[in-house]
Amino acid sequence: MQENQNVQDLSFSQELDKYSKKWHALSNERILKILKTNQKSGLTTQEAAKRLEEFGRNTLPKPKKPNIFAIFFKSFLDPLCIMMAIAGIASLIIGLINTLEAPDIAGLIIIAVIILTNSIIATLQEWKSLNQKEAIKNNVLEAVVLRDGKQTRINIEELVPGDIIYTKSGDFVPADSRIIDNQMLKVDESALTGENEAVEKVDEVIEEQHLVLGDQKNIAFMSTLVVEGKMVGVVFNTGRESEIGKIATKISETKKQKTPLEHKVSKLTLIIGLASVILGAIIFGIAYVNNEKIGESIYKLLLVAVSSAISIIPESLTIIVKICLFIATKKMARKNVMIKKPKSIETLGNVNVICSDKTGTLTQNKMFVDSLYMSGKEYKAKEIELQEDPLVRCMALCNDGVINKKGEKIGNATDLALVGLLMDNKINYQAMRRKYKRVDEIPFDSKRKVMSTVNQVDGPDGKYVAYTKGAMDYLIPHCKHIVDNDIVRPITDQDIENIKEQLLVFAKKGMRTLGFAKKDLDEIDLEQDYQYEDKLVFMGLVAIIDPPREEVKYSIEDAHNAGIRVIMITGDHKVTAFEIASRLGITDEQYNDVITGAEIESLSNEELIEKLKSTNVFARVNPEHKALIVDLLQSQNNIVAMTGDGVNDSPSLVKADVGIAMGITGTEVSKKVSDVILTDDNFKSIISGINSGRNVYEKIKYSISFLVAANISQVLTILIVLGIFGQLALNSVNILFHIFVVETIVAIPIGMQRERKGVMLNPPPTHKKESLLKGIITQICLTTLFNTLFAVLNYSIADIYVMHSDLASSKEELQKLASGYAKAGSYICIMNSPIFYAILFNNRFLPIKNDNGETIIDKYKPNKWLIILMCIALTLTTLTMLPFEGLNEFFDFKTHKLPAILAVIFIINTLLTPICIYLVNLIVLKTTSNMKKNLSKQQTINKEL
Ligand code: ATP
Repeated sequence: MQENQNVQDLSFSQELDKYSKKWHALSNERILKILKTNQKSGLTTQEAAKRLEEFGRNTLPKPKKPNIFAIFFKSFLDPLCIMMAIAGIASLIIGLINTLEAPDIAGLIIIAVIILTNSIIATLQEWKSLNQKEAIKNNVLEAVVLRDGKQTRINIEELVPGDIIYTKSGDFVPADSRIIDNQMLKVDESALTGENEAVEKVDEVIEEQHLVLGDQKNIAFMSTLVVEGKMVGVVFNTGRESEIGKIATKISETKKQKTPLEHKVSKLTLIIGLASVILGAIIFGIAYVNNEKIGESIYKLLLVAVSSAISIIPESLTIIVKICLFIATKKMARKNVMIKKPKSIETLGNVNVICSDKTGTLTQNKMFVDSLYMSGKEYKAKEIELQEDPLVRCMALCNDGVINKKGEKIGNATDLALVGLLMDNKINYQAMRRKYKRVDEIPFDSKRKVMSTVNQVDGPDGKYVAYTKGAMDYLIPHCKHIVDNDIVRPITDQDIENIKEQLLVFAKKGMRTLGFAKKDLDEIDLEQDYQYEDKLVFMGLVAIIDPPREEVKYSIEDAHNAGIRVIMITGDHKVTAFEIASRLGITDEQYNDVITGAEIESLSNEELIEKLKSTNVFARVNPEHKALIVDLLQSQNNIVAMTGDGVNDSPSLVKADVGIAMGITGTEVSKKVSDVILTDDNFKSIISGINSGRNVYEKIKYSISFLVAANISQVLTILIVLGIFGQLALNSVNILFHIFVVETIVAIPIGMQRERKGVMLNPPPTHKKESLLKGIITQICLTTLFNTLFAVLNYSIADIYVMHSDLASSKEELQKLASGYAKAGSYICIMNSPIFYAILFNNRFLPIKNDNGETIIDKYKPNKWLIILMCIALTLTTLTMLPFEGLNEFFDFKTHKLPAILAVIFIINTLLTPICIYLVNLIVLKTTSNMKKNLSKQQTINKEL
C-alpha cells in the first residue's frame, strides 16, 4: 500500500514537471485539472498535508553561513590588531637580539593574550549576531488560502502546488502561481527580473511558448510584491522549484556594513592610535636621555615606549560597541521592536520627531460600529435591528472582511467592524455574497479613500448595482440622490448640510465615519471603472469607534520629556484626528492646529514650514504628503522617525531617518523597505526603542571616557615621573597588565550595563554628526587629572619618605628602595582606581525625585557582571602586589617589607581618586540636578519603558 502510494506521488510530481515553463499557456480549467484542485473549495487539509510531504516546505534555500573560523581570522585584520601585532613582533625581534629575561617574555605573552582575547570576543559577538539575524528572518509570513472550502490563513511555508491563494496589494506573492482571477493586479518583479516598473498582470491564457519571465503576465512569481489590486491564483511551484528558489542560492547576502557609530568609534580609535605612536616616541626620547639614571638596556626602554603607545589605544571599544548593539537588538526584540538594520538603533536614539499613523498605532484598531445615520436620523447600533435593505447590502457586499467559524478575522479592521455589526444583527453576509455575485470592483486605496464593488443583484437577467463606501469628503460631490425613508429622491443642499453636521457630531466624539452609496446599472463596461463612483445615491453613514490605546498617552508624555515631538499623520477626518490627538496629549497650547491633505497641496513649502510651527496633526493626507512632511521636517534639521503600513507609504519610510513598519497590520512592502518593524504595532514600543537607542549611545560614551581617562592617566604618570624623577614609574609588564585588567576585564561590562530610564529625561542630540566626545570631555579631563595626580603623589610620597628614612645604610641602596616602593605606589593607584571609578561612570547613586518627593528614577543598581568582574580584577591586582620578593622582581616594584604608613597612604590615595571624581561630578557637574531641571511638570517616567 505504502509503495503504491509512493509510486502515485512520484508520478504526480513528475507530471507537474512536464508542464514546467508552460503554465502560462494553459487554460484555467486545464491547470486546475492538472493540479487536481478546485477553484471553489481548494485542497482538503489531508491532501495538502500529503503534498507538503512530497513537495517539501515552501522555503527558499538558505545562503551559506560564514564559518566561525573565517570570522575569527578576519578579526585579526582590524587595524588596531595589526598595530599591536607589529609592536609585539618588533619587541620580540629586539628581545631576541638582546638577551630575553622572564618579564620580557611575559610582556610578549600579554600582548598575544590581549590580541587573542579581543579576537575571540569579537568572533563570538559576530557569530551570535549572525544567528540572531537568522531568527529575525524566520519571522512567520502568512498567506490567505482556500482549504476545505474555507478561506484561512496559513504559514506560507505550508503552501503546496494546487493551493488556491488570495493575494492583495501590499502582500508578497507567496509561491509561483497562475493568476485565475485578476483585479487590476500590478506586481513589482524587480527581485526577479531587475525591472523596476510594476508589471500589470492578466488572467487570460498567453498562447506563445518560450516566454521570458517578464512576459509571463498571467503568472505571479514567488517573493514579488503586489503593489496594486488583488488576485486569486493557483500555486504550481513552491520553494526551491519556484523561479526565485532556483536563483536564491546564487544571491549572496549583502555584505555587512559598519554602522555610523562603529565608524565613529573606529575613527576615534585610529586617531588615538596614531597619537599613541607620537607619545611612545616622546617617552622613548626622554627615557633615552635619562638612561644613565634609569640604568636599563635600550631594549627595555623601547619596550616601555611600545607598551605605553599600545596602552593608550582603547582597543576594547569596537567590541563594546558590538556588544551594546547586540544587547540592544535583543532587548528591543523583547520589547516588540524588531531591528532590521543595526544602524537604526543609533538613529532611533537620536530621533527628535516621531510622525505616527493613527489607526492601530495610536488607537487599538479594535473597531466596532457605534452609531448609524439614515434618512436624517441618528441611531445607536445597539438599539436598532437591521434588516436586509440596500444599505445593509452595501455593508455586506462592498466589503472584503471575513470572520470565519473559528472566530479568525481576515481583512481590514474597518470592514470587519461592519461584518461584526451584520453578525450581531444575525444577517448572513456570506450567503448574501454568494447570492449577489461580485462581478467587478475598484479596491480601496488611500488616495480616494473609498472602495466600490459591482454585484449582480437581480439574478442572471442582469441587473447590477455598484456599491461604494468610504470617506464622505470624496462621496458627497458624487451623490446626486438620497434614500429618504425607502424613497429615492434628488439630494438637496439642506441634505448635504445635515450630513456634514452629522459627520461633525460623530467626529467630535473621535469616531471614524463611513458613507454608503449605490448606483443601479443596467449594464457594465469592465473597462470604465469611473462610471461606478459617479451619480450616486446616498444611503447613510456609519460611525465606528476605535479607542485610543491607554498606554500611548504615557508614552507620548515620555516622548515630550525626552524632548521628542510627536506628530499624527492620518487618512482620517480632520475633526476625528484632532479629537484623538487631544485625548492623547499630541496637541497643546502651541500645537493646536490641523492641516489637511487638501491644504498641503494649496500651500507652498515655506508656508507649510510656518504652519508646522503650530501643527502636530495632519488629517486626510495621501501617502505622498507623508514624504513631503518628512522632507520639510528634515530640512529643519530634525531627525525623523516615521511609521507606515501601506504599500504607498514606502517613499516616506525610505525617506525618514528611521522608517518604522507595522508588524501586524503592515503590508509586506512596508516591512521590506523599513528599518524597524513594530511587532505589536504599538506606539509605546517606539519609545522603548528610542530609550534603548539612547542607552547604547550613553554606554559607548561612558566606555570612551572611562578607557581614555584610565589609559591617558597611565601614560601621563610615566611622563611626569620621568620628567621629575628621571625614573620609569611603570615597566612594560605593568603597562600590559593594566591593558589586560582595564580593557578586557573592567571596560567590557560597562557596555553590558542595565538600560537607564534617565536617558529619556535628556534632550535629544542637536545634529546627526554630533561628536562622540561631546559632553564627556570635562569628565575625561577630571578623571585623568585625579588619577594621574594621586598616582604621582603616591610615587613622590614614597620617594621622599624613603630618601629621608634610615631604611638602608647607603644612599644607593636607599635610592633603589625608594624607587621600588614608589613604583609600587603608582602601580596600586594606576591599576586599582579605574576598577573603582568604572562603577561611578554611571553616577546615578541617588534616586531622582520630582517636586512632590515622588521617585521618578530609581537608584542606580550596578550590573552584576561589573561587580563580579571588578572583584576578579581587584583580586588579580592584589595578587600581583603580594609581598614576595620573586613576585616583586617580576613586576619590577617592591611591596616586600613595605612600611605600614606608606601602605595606608597608597590605599587612601587610590580610593581618593574615585571619591574625588564622584564628588566633582555631583557638585561641579551637577549631572543629577541638571536632569531634574528638564522636568517641566510633575512627571513620572513610564515604569515599563
Ligand atoms: P492612518 O493613516 O492613521 O492609519 P486611517 O487608517 O484612518 O489612518 P485610511 O485607512 O487611509 O486611514 O482611512 C481613511 C478613510 O478612508 C477613513 O476615514 C474611512 O472613511 C475610509 N476607509 C478606511 N477603510 C476603508 C474601507 N475598508 N473601505 C472604505 N473606506 C474606508
